[in-house]
Amino acid sequence: MVRMRSLRARLFFILLIVGILPCVATRYAIVSNYQERAVERRINTIQTQMRIVSNHLLSNDYMTAMLEQSSPRTDKVIDAELEMLSNIYEGRVMIIAGNFHVIRDTYAIHEGKTMISEEVIRCFSGESTSYYDAEHGYIELTVPIVDTTDEKSEVQGVLLTSVSDDSIVNMTQILNRNAWLLEMMMILVMFALSLFLSAMLVRPLDRITTAIKEVRAGYSNDPISVPDYAETVHIVDAFNDLLSRMSAVDQSREEFVANVSHELKTPMTSIKVLSDTLLATPDAPRELYEEFLQDIASEVDRENRVITDLLALVKMDDKAAQEIRPAQVNINELTELTLKRLRPIARKKDVELILESAREVTAEVDEVRITLLITNLVENAIKYNKEHGEVHVLIDADHQAFSVTVSDTGIGIPEDSLPFIYDRFYRVDKSHSREIGGTGLGLAICRSVVLMHRGSISVSSTEGEGSVFRVEIPLNFVQG
Ligand code: ADP
Repeated sequence: MVRMRSLRARLFFILLIVGILPCVATRYAIVSNYQERAVERRINTIQTQMRIVSNHLLSNDYMTAMLEQSSPRTDKVIDAELEMLSNIYEGRVMIIAGNFHVIRDTYAIHEGKTMISEEVIRCFSGESTSYYDAEHGYIELTVPIVDTTDEKSEVQGVLLTSVSDDSIVNMTQILNRNAWLLEMMMILVMFALSLFLSAMLVRPLDRITTAIKEVRAGYSNDPISVPDYAETVHIVDAFNDLLSRMSAVDQSREEFVANVSHELKTPMTSIKVLSDTLLATPDAPRELYEEFLQDIASEVDRENRVITDLLALVKMDDKAAQEIRPAQVNINELTELTLKRLRPIARKKDVELILESAREVTAEVDEVRITLLITNLVENAIKYNKEHGEVHVLIDADHQAFSVTVSDTGIGIPEDSLPFIYDRFYRVDKSHSREIGGTGLGLAICRSVVLMHRGSISVSSTEGEGSVFRVEIPLNFVQG
């Protein structure tokens, strides 16, 4: 059962059957055709011979002479001729007169008796008949004794011949034996050929398996190549694609771990330096202590922010931990509340927050996550804004999705940075972002939230003029 599932075994059997069937069919066709034609030829020859005999009988008036027993001389000649024919064809010849009396039998068994059979009756109406009995091994035929030159002349008698088919059977047997030998040879050749071809046809698949095993064992990371068939090229392409995606994932994970370590270490290093400095100055004034402790506290805040953001992100990445709680949420109210919370930060920079609702929107979303999304976008629009700048939030919807557009009058994003801003820890200006409390994870979180809701996020930005972030999310939650 397991073996039959093997492609090689299937190919082998298919090739074998396809190779052998025509051989067997051809042998059968040739042998039976030969037999048919040999019987036909034999019947024709004997019929011709019998017609000649019939003409001799007529020209010698044998029938009347025989009936009247008046001409013994002609008998002998004809008898000899009949004898010779029956010897040559290993058969029996009977002459039957009009009253169905057998007047001559080369076997001398039926002479003087009556012989009525369907063939004989048909023959008396002028028709030659022939019949081959393959089972009993004889051919029987009848020829009318009639003057063919005279249209009106009556059938005077019938020549009934039955000959053995031994010679035909012998020939058929020889032919069959030879064909069988040839067929056996062909089967052997086909067997070897099928074995070889099936192995050769599946070899590329084996090569793919070997190559994949090598990759799995870790010997190689190179793309594999098995260009033998279009199909193997497809499989190999798909595998190489997977391989490169896996190594990209590997690489990004390594980068992520390195980034996380770095981000977590930076505040620690500052705290260490600050505390070491204090410890090294035993009689430092109280103001220095206060200043340094304030710095230490803000470094702890930073560390906290990074950890909070990382946890938010990891939670969203971990599919099992993703507890999405979609509920009907009024997006206008939610945005207004978020902006209210962010106003104090905006006020510090004298940035004006403006909310515009094109329509009332209620959507089936995860409230906590959508709040996180809007907070991050608006927070960025404030952080990367200029003094006395403006942040404009527009809520709109059509019958399928709602959109939140956050435009600012800030510093903008350089065009060559745009493809990377959603990457974890990516910052256009590292030191500036850190100064204003950025972790480099905000937009990565935004993107995760949007993807979770099967929405889309896009950005357009002009350096020095400002940026526009636009998020589109379906009104009804689509379960992933
Ligand atoms: P961060 O915590 O540093 O703000 P984000 O992932 O939120 O990290 O953003 C990544 C980077 O994209 C930021 O460091 C900043 O350089 C840039 N950026 C994001 N939003 C804006 C914006 N509204 N205007 C200008 N630059 C922005």
